Amino acid sequence: MTVEKLKRKIKCDVSGCNNQADYTILNKRFVFDGNVYLCATCLNNLYGEIGKFVKPKSIKPIYKKGEKDEI
Ligand SMILES: [Zn+2]
Repeated sequence: MTVEKLKRKIKCDVSGCNNQADYTILNKRFVFDGNVYLCATCLNNLYGEIGKFVKPKSIKPIYKKGEKDEI
């Protein structure tokens, strides 16, 4: 599942939202169009909601050799 910037003109999938979709969540598991189309506003709202449950994977801190090895 990937999120890409949309080039085509498609309406946002969120019911009640009349904006034009800016992004698409690609789902290549389906032969038919299983993609989800979202405008920037809805994507931001969704991101905020997801953030309640999922923390982004943190990038491993790079320690300099010799530091933080002894505990
Ligand atoms: Zn929308």
